[in-house]
Amino acid sequence: MRQLIERRRVRVTGTVQGVGFRPFVFREAVALGLVGFVFNDSDGVLVEVEGEPDKVAQLCRLLSDAAPPLARVTSVSWDEMAPTSGEERFRIIESSSSRVPNAAVSVDSATCDECLSEVDDPGSRRHGYPFTNCTNCGPRYTIILSVPYDRPATTMAGFEMCPECQAEYDDPADRRFHAQPNACAVCGPRIVFYDCAGHRIAEAESALFELVKALRRGDIVAVKGIGGYHLAADATNHGAVAELRRRKARDDKPFALMVADVEMARSLCVLDPKAEAALGSVARPIVLAPRRPGCTLAAGVAPGLADLGLMIAYTPLHHLLMAEMARPLVMSSGNISDDPIAHLDDDAFSRLGPMVDGVLAHDRPIHIRCDDSVVRATGRRLQMVRRSRGYAPEALALPGAAARQVLAVGAELKNTIAVAKDSQLVCSHHIGDLEHLATYEAFLQATVHLCRLFGVEPEVVAHDLHPEYLSTKHALELDFEPWPVQHHHAHIASCLVEHGHNETVLGIAFDGLGYGADATMWGGEFLVADFDGFERVGHLRQAAMPGGAAAIREPWRMALSWVALALGEDAAARLGETLDNRWNQVLALALAAGDQAAVQTSSVGRLFDAVAALLGLRSRVTYEGQAAIELERLARSVPREAARIYPVELSENGGLEVLDPSPLIAMVLEELRAGVNRPLIAASFHESLGRAAADLGARLARRHGLDTVALSGGVFQNARFSDTVEDALVAEGLTVLVHESVPPNDGGISIGQAAIAALGTRGP
Ligand SMILES: [Zn+2]
Ligand SMILES: [Zn+2]
Repeated sequence: MRQLIERRRVRVTGTVQGVGFRPFVFREAVALGLVGFVFNDSDGVLVEVEGEPDKVAQLCRLLSDAAPPLARVTSVSWDEMAPTSGEERFRIIESSSSRVPNAAVSVDSATCDECLSEVDDPGSRRHGYPFTNCTNCGPRYTIILSVPYDRPATTMAGFEMCPECQAEYDDPADRRFHAQPNACAVCGPRIVFYDCAGHRIAEAESALFELVKALRRGDIVAVKGIGGYHLAADATNHGAVAELRRRKARDDKPFALMVADVEMARSLCVLDPKAEAALGSVARPIVLAPRRPGCTLAAGVAPGLADLGLMIAYTPLHHLLMAEMARPLVMSSGNISDDPIAHLDDDAFSRLGPMVDGVLAHDRPIHIRCDDSVVRATGRRLQMVRRSRGYAPEALALPGAAARQVLAVGAELKNTIAVAKDSQLVCSHHIGDLEHLATYEAFLQATVHLCRLFGVEPEVVAHDLHPEYLSTKHALELDFEPWPVQHHHAHIASCLVEHGHNETVLGIAFDGLGYGADATMWGGEFLVADFDGFERVGHLRQAAMPGGAAAIREPWRMALSWVALALGEDAAARLGETLDNRWNQVLALALAAGDQAAVQTSSVGRLFDAVAALLGLRSRVTYEGQAAIELERLARSVPREAARIYPVELSENGGLEVLDPSPLIAMVLEELRAGVNRPLIAASFHESLGRAAADLGARLARRHGLDTVALSGGVFQNARFSDTVEDALVAEGLTVLVHESVPPNDGGISIGQAAIAALGTRGP
């Protein structure tokens, strides 16, 4: 019987370039005795394969089932073709770059175990080489200039491979086949150590030796990594850490720590299995986890905080360094205060030079600045706090087909941008706070780069309603049709994208401040929302923000405001005397002059600030959310069951439900007078507000015939509060969508904006 032959043209989409996909296809096809070819193009990977039908079918299955570790296969589809005679083998062909790119760019990934064992092996030609990588690991997004992803389109273009590296690169059976950053000590990048005056002190192994020597004696050293420079110091050296904090003009924000491995991480923090899995993942984020009592670290690492931020070494250089140091290192982003992290060498020398005792640089350029990502282990789940290196630019699936190509410019703080087309959405790395000029410039570059990298030609630009956001102003200068998206609507939409949910939900969006559709400042919102639009159906009672923006930095002002609502202005005045002697002026301005004098806000974040101030935690903060974080820490020492329930009232205002916590504030004051301990009051505040919010959410959901509630906004980074709201809603029989892979804070805003503008059917 004549053997039947089948030929298929197979399209593979997703993150399939730069991850060893073609050699994988090659190996499997050869093993199955098939002929044909595979190549990268702008849409992903295209395979033509011919042979026995069952073998051809088997290959198609393997493409999704057995893909290499860093690949993310979105779809495998094929057409049957007429068999071609004359092909004798399977081939990998060069990339075609004739069309607009549409293929996913993969993320920067931690060094794989095989590469690490080569680095450790004295018999390997890569022994001790700090840039060892392969198709399963190494830099990607940060070195890519354009797509398709090939060496000339990366910052490795200037390094010519030595014969041995070239042989690996050309051999389909090799782990380094077409590994674009492939390099060795003979042909690849090198590390160089400079002293504080910028003099070249040592190279290669000697540079590592100098780096270790400097850190051991308590120096602060700028160390170039994957997405930028870190400022490194010995985390067990009190003097070094205090000096770093001083030189960095760092307020009280905690420093991230690098550890050698999970054992060292366990010695510092209490880790659950989810936290350990995240620490060891190829994304290698900073994981925030509870500090282990009695762990020996310099006090200045994370002042006043119950959590530490840890990451495991993720480049060969880090591994070599940690092996020598054998103790945790502070690895803080290389910037002063809140400036963007330095990633270009000249910039690093000029900005970081005066702050450090030495610089460990290398000659592989970083094209895209990419901060370390941050996730928090809440006990219940892992929650993204900053989605950047290792996660960006992995595409998110839109829950529907985009009706148009979109650029979304995000919010003002914790800015990210996003693009959407077809059924995919790509969010950038963390860009930062746009009020810094250098960050704003990075934002402008990122909007162009992301569109080019993903072949997006925007028809619309989605932006926040806030007229003063620099992102909004930029959006309105572009030639694309503007698509304004309300801030809290975007928060809820980002949660829907994450959960692939394309139906109307009751959204609870609690955060610091966002511009409302009525031009007041919102931040405690109940929205009936989907990608087409939203209706505000409830909110937190509004309170004055005495002194406007000053009330963000000085929570005592919000305390006065809430006490005035709870007990009247006289009581607020008496309290003011104990809080700050400037209260008179502020109070006169904000309260006595009437509601119109001060900005009104329904922000839940500001309510947390107020309670933190009343409990004496903070009358001033040095970073946004600091008071609320400390309030949560205080509450965590009391089990939820022990919390008391304080009253929260409901009222109505022009058809909107209003959640009024002023009786709760009155109770907080009464408990303080009665000498109740502050952790119990903090726990009771969390429990009472959380349950009241959930009760109202459940009622509104039922009223509007909805069975799903989405929680978003920066306040839901507070795990204690988020758990309370979630549990109470689940007890009401509702499905609750909680963030995990998308940040609940403003880092997720661009995702919500992009989805609304891509999927909305009614227009802006
Ligand atoms: Zn590797
Ligand atoms: Zn080489």
